[in-house]
Amino acid sequence: MPNASSATGTIVTARPAYVGRFAPSPTGPLHFGSLLAAAASYLQARQGGGDWLVRIEDIDPPRQQPGAIERILEALERYGFEWDGPVIYQSDTRSAHEAALARLLEAGHAYPCGCSRSDLAEAPRGPLGIIYPGTCRAGCTASETAIRIRTNDSAVSFVDGLQGLQQQRLESESGDFVIWRRDGLVAYHLAVVVDDYEQGVTEIVRGIDLMDSTCRQVWLQQLLGYPTPDYLHIPVAAHADGQKLSKLTGAKAVPVRRPERTLVQALSALGQQPPPGLYEAPLREIWSWAMENWHIEALAGKTRILVDSNAMAEGKNGLL
Ligand SMILES: [Zn+2]
Repeated sequence: MPNASSATGTIVTARPAYVGRFAPSPTGPLHFGSLLAAAASYLQARQGGGDWLVRIEDIDPPRQQPGAIERILEALERYGFEWDGPVIYQSDTRSAHEAALARLLEAGHAYPCGCSRSDLAEAPRGPLGIIYPGTCRAGCTASETAIRIRTNDSAVSFVDGLQGLQQQRLESESGDFVIWRRDGLVAYHLAVVVDDYEQGVTEIVRGIDLMDSTCRQVWLQQLLGYPTPDYLHIPVAAHADGQKLSKLTGAKAVPVRRPERTLVQALSALGQQPPPGLYEAPLREIWSWAMENWHIEALAGKTRILVDSNAMAEGKNGLL
């Protein structure tokens, strides 16, 4: 990105008007659900004349699968995705995460918490998990601690581009949540907020399974003085029984040998109406049709797309 001097003499970085991203966790290979998120974010960025970044969210080594990063990137390449700049690794941006943590601690927005899992066994639970009862708000003497962010009970809200107004009262729905783990690793919410800000991301297109976490991320943006990007949460791919496709539910990797058919199925799953002839077309032609015809509005209000990932892995029609 080009640098330019501003009137005050400080260096500012010129950023494109639109920056989108695809940010997979390397816990397994690219499955159809992640392909949908990749394709939707890519088409949205390209149609808006923007940049599209690929960021590997490798901040949780214990949950990572060896070889998953290589497999994900190989699949993206085989499907014809072209990202801007080098692949970004979240494990390389730790100093930015630490700087944000230091700011939050200094401002009194965050505090150490020594509560163990068993200390919280009696804590109330809500749809987002344990609702932290605030035990360590007034101080904590434990030697090993996580760091939590203070919440309050005013409504935190955002308007999702596909799912409409979303709001949560964090203090009663999640309680003060962890932004830095006891094992020394940054927690997902802080990492994703800091990296999206540092990388100039303006719009986030991702699976609706992450919509529940967005208000917590908006809260962090507010405390850190960051702008809130636009959000569009697309439906998740699910098995016939309704369970979301994931490594845990046995989702198969998308085939990389002949990606064309699966890519057209992805477009169709995303509510687009690819002509039947496109199934036989080369990748370049599929992408050019998709960019010309992309309309994300087709996904408004949709939450789930049922698929048979076994059939897809064999290159067959897997849309249910
Ligand atoms: Zn605590």
